[in-house]
Amino acid sequence: MKESVRKLQPYVPEKTLATLQAELGIDRLVRLSANENPYGTSPKVAEAVKNWDFSESNRYPDGDALALRQAIARQQHVDPAQLVFSVGLDEMIAMVSRTFLAAGDQVLVSAPTFSEYALHAEIEGAKLVAVPTLANDQVDFDGLINALTPAVKMVWLCNPNNPTGTSESLADIEAFIQQVPAETMVLIDEAYIDFASDAANLTAMQLPAKYDNVVVMRTFSKAYGLANFRIGYAVFSQTYAPTMQAVRLPYNVNSVTQVAALAALKDQAFVKETVAKNAAERQAWMAFFDQQGIRYDLSDANFIFFTVPKATKLADYLLHHGYSLRTGLRAGWLRMTFGTATDGEALRKLIAQN
Ligand SMILES: *Cc1c(COP(=O)(O)O)cnc(C)c1O
Repeated sequence: MKESVRKLQPYVPEKTLATLQAELGIDRLVRLSANENPYGTSPKVAEAVKNWDFSESNRYPDGDALALRQAIARQQHVDPAQLVFSVGLDEMIAMVSRTFLAAGDQVLVSAPTFSEYALHAEIEGAKLVAVPTLANDQVDFDGLINALTPAVKMVWLCNPNNPTGTSESLADIEAFIQQVPAETMVLIDEAYIDFASDAANLTAMQLPAKYDNVVVMRTFSKAYGLANFRIGYAVFSQTYAPTMQAVRLPYNVNSVTQVAALAALKDQAFVKETVAKNAAERQAWMAFFDQQGIRYDLSDANFIFFTVPKATKLADYLLHHGYSLRTGLRAGWLRMTFGTATDGEALRKLIAQN
């Protein structure tokens, strides 16, 4: 066994709702701890999945995901050859770590951020170098630049960032990229970009065509409501896309998932509605926190990071009243996914009374 794996603390996945409800002895638990889509999935996906030809079951799926590839290339204005698909975006995080890291290398992150970057760095025997965010939880780009050494092979930028919800401007990101050596990969995780108030101007989607070492990543798990189907993708430069295709398992994304993702992509009305409802809840929560004097990070995502004097106690109280929030990301802070308007109202009452 690799020495790095022997000491590993595994990622703790969410328990199923049924398990949690049984443990708590309650009938209804709303999970606001995993940034899932509270409005479900487009009905067009259900239709497409039902219509999938079951007689294809004994055949391997299309390893190129051609129909989906062409649709995404058109939507994102990238070359189809730049796209690489993965089983959830988390498989991509594993894949790029496996590709670009060797034991003893360094991986640079702004902290706090998504824990899987650190997990896969560790598996590869690389060392995580974490630069704390600024006081307002924005990325400390100067701090990141100062931490760049020849040992740094990958830099992760999560935009908007999980768990802070904060976003960085494309100008700041590109200015940063221009300071990074050409041999160092810059990986921009845009899992939440659909929720950003100015997503079209925030995305770094066009940068891989301009900078060989830049990668932009997306998932269908959040705004598209397909977390259970496990599909994500990354946009690479023409230099690295073939490398990644060689590392990727040839049949990683199954046909049902390809069909589901294509149907979800085509139903932009569903995505728009999700994004609009989320923006309304985000507004309501920030106004509520202002009124309550509760400190929070400015959110450009489908969740918010906030601090209260007795965070763990509040999370436990809310859990027993049917709402699970994410704890353990920073002492005294909680991360809450925005739910439906009805749940938002009920939850704000619970917090105001507490
Ligand atoms: C949810 C999430 C992902 C990946 O989700 P998948 O379900 O594996 O596609 C990637 N990055 C961040 C920051 C996330 O929060």
